[in-house]
Amino acid sequence: MTTFRWHGGRLSVNFTATLGMRWGPVVERLREPADLARWFRDADMTGELVEVSAADLAEARDLREALYALFVGMSTDVSLVNRWLANPVPSGTLEVVSGKLTRLPPDTDARGLLGLVARDGADLLTGPWAHRIHECERPDCSLLFVDESRAGARRWCSMETCGARSKMARYRAAQPGT
Ligand SMILES: [Zn+2]
Repeated sequence: MTTFRWHGGRLSVNFTATLGMRWGPVVERLREPADLARWFRDADMTGELVEVSAADLAEARDLREALYALFVGMSTDVSLVNRWLANPVPSGTLEVVSGKLTRLPPDTDARGLLGLVARDGADLLTGPWAHRIHECERPDCSLLFVDESRAGARRWCSMETCGARSKMARYRAAQPGT
């Protein structure tokens, strides 16, 4: 079972991470409808697995690539994302659970959830962090993240994985005779 990546800082950016290693042997993490159902749940968009059809999966991948192209500035074609934005938005409900105000996930289907991903992408692209969408600096990692650090100097999708590996590579390169 593929594991998903959650370093993007935003729902829609994490969604683009379901296609990994874009510059190498590409890793498709949404291989079958059940993968998308699992992604929705792992992203805390749903409490339980929703039903996903093969058509939903194909549309999800199209939305993902449209968002990715906008995030990295490869495209200004907003038509596909706009089709999703035209759908009504499921918003979930507020409930008091054990004395604490909690937002319960919307009772919706796969298409409703994809609409929420599209909306998050549109909010990001037009919001204050739009210019802080970056690609990880490790050459074979293509994951995007939103750099919300004050200095804006974040370089890797994750310090634990790519950051640590890059440091190790630099350390090795600095050792004479190895
Ligand atoms: Zn990375």
